Amino acid sequence: MVRPCPICERDALADRAENEFAPFCSKRCRLIDLGRWLDESYRIPAVEDDEVEDEGAPPTSNSGRDERTQ
Ligand SMILES: [Zn+2]
Repeated sequence: MVRPCPICERDALADRAENEFAPFCSKRCRLIDLGRWLDESYRIPAVEDDEVEDEGAPPTSNSGRDERTQ
């Protein structure tokens, strides 16, 4: 029996005897699903990270180079 993989919707064998990753098509898709599931249960509170690092714009130096000669 072949069913579309819930992750990538490719054909995946639904029988565990034939496909150890059923109902997913591959280990990768199973991991993706597991990752989503963990994401849901360990929902990390979104932290507003507004702390913008000041890269330190070089201070405008007026060392008198602007003086016009003549
Ligand atoms: Zn898949």
